Amino acid sequence: MNSTTVLGTTTMTLSQLQTELTAELDAIRAAGRWRELRPAQAPPAVTFVCEGQRWINFSSNDYLGLSTHPRLIAAAQAATAEWGTGATASRLICGTLDLHRSLEEALVAFKVGGHPGYRALLFNSGYHANLSLLTALTDAQDVIFSDALNHASLIDGCRLSRATTVVYRHNDLDDLRAKLTRYGQARRRLIVTEAVFSMDGDVAPLADILTLAETFGAWVVLDEAHATGVLGPQGRGLAAQLDHTGRPIIVMGTLGKALGSFGAFVVAPAVVIELLINRARPFIFTTALPPAPVAAALEAVRLLMESDALVEGLHCNIKHMATALGFSPDWTTPVFPVVLGAEAATMRAMQDLQAAGFHVVGIRPPTVPPGACRLRLTVTAAHTPAQIADVAAAVRSVMPASSLVRATHS
Ligand SMILES: *Cc1c(COP(=O)(O)O)cnc(C)c1O
Repeated sequence: MNSTTVLGTTTMTLSQLQTELTAELDAIRAAGRWRELRPAQAPPAVTFVCEGQRWINFSSNDYLGLSTHPRLIAAAQAATAEWGTGATASRLICGTLDLHRSLEEALVAFKVGGHPGYRALLFNSGYHANLSLLTALTDAQDVIFSDALNHASLIDGCRLSRATTVVYRHNDLDDLRAKLTRYGQARRRLIVTEAVFSMDGDVAPLADILTLAETFGAWVVLDEAHATGVLGPQGRGLAAQLDHTGRPIIVMGTLGKALGSFGAFVVAPAVVIELLINRARPFIFTTALPPAPVAAALEAVRLLMESDALVEGLHCNIKHMATALGFSPDWTTPVFPVVLGAEAATMRAMQDLQAAGFHVVGIRPPTVPPGACRLRLTVTAAHTPAQIADVAAAVRSVMPASSLVRATHS
């Protein structure tokens, strides 16, 4: 009725599309999963200014406070003055600048101590990096073993790769071993896991996963989005806590979280990097990262390699937050999940915290599984002990005591 027939084909009119999409949006709203954009009126650092209100921000991934660091800003400004605002083309056309190469070399130094057999490759985001890795390394002959709580970018990489994807229970080595045993026939096997789980803040049992990989002839792809700048000596990551060079592991990390910039990288044996350059479509078919974020990330890496102070400051605040919220004293990551379950309860708790002066975003499906909605508090090196004590008190006051106990399960 609302459609027009043109040469025998049926064309959907705008009003028909509007009706259909409005129904889909209504369903999202009815499920309590409505999302909307709320622009900040100042850099979202320790304070978050939005719609004329000002909150103390406990939702940022800027774990070291580097996104507003004077040295990163100066580096980005100098790079823009020297190199311009854009890279002008993809990396393989004429978009590879000396700056990209410098950052890639610095990342090899940072992540694997400059090991001569290793190289790094930049990507425009962690999302691009994960799609690149999984699609370049696997196809229909291969099997990917994927942790049940892996990030959407890893899930999408699995889908796009055409490999058989076998999901194992979160951080469950017995389940992983059983599944590796069952899929013995593949050409190539990849175990894919986050280092620090983005919505849960727990850490993958990497040493044991790597041993399993070696036993079964598999490779590990480790996503260090929330581990880079956070875990390991000088924030070099979870893998850097092990002696992992020469072992079957490929490390990916991002520049947009603790490193305060934008983009991502893979550090891996040189042959893996060559394959990515030659095959990874999200690397090949996109304009290279512009000079400013590359220079800012390079400055961030230099800062971390010069001094432990920032990472130590972060860990000091992680301890304060763990104590104040009643988490385990050996909690080592800046991500604190407080699980409420349902959408409505979570969004109400978020509003109550806003009324108390804190910005803590509620997390709902599909970011977390249905029934596992939560407040996700993140602490940074830039918070003060008083701010941490205050937000923890506010969380305790808006939460039923029982849910806080459940929240601290792991
Ligand atoms: C944020 C995130 C990504 C994506 O990185 P971007 O650079 O933001 O695209 C990938 N993996 C994990 C685990 C993340 O948390």
